[in-house]
Amino acid sequence: MSKSKNKISTCYTSMECNSCKIIKKRKFIDDDYVFSTPENCSECDGKMLITKIFGVTMD
Ligand SMILES: [Zn+2]
Repeated sequence: MSKSKNKISTCYTSMECNSCKIIKKRKFIDDDYVFSTPENCSECDGKMLITKIFGVTMD
């Protein structure tokens, strides 16, 4: 008996504030790319720098 594997891959974006160094993760959106600064920090007036985009695969 064989089961077809149904893997779901979700991309996440990891970003770090360039002032207070807080690290935040959220789901990847199309405009994200590494070293861009799409948002301001929620803790201070710094910019959130995207440091990593990664995929998570779930069975
Ligand atoms: Zn900050």
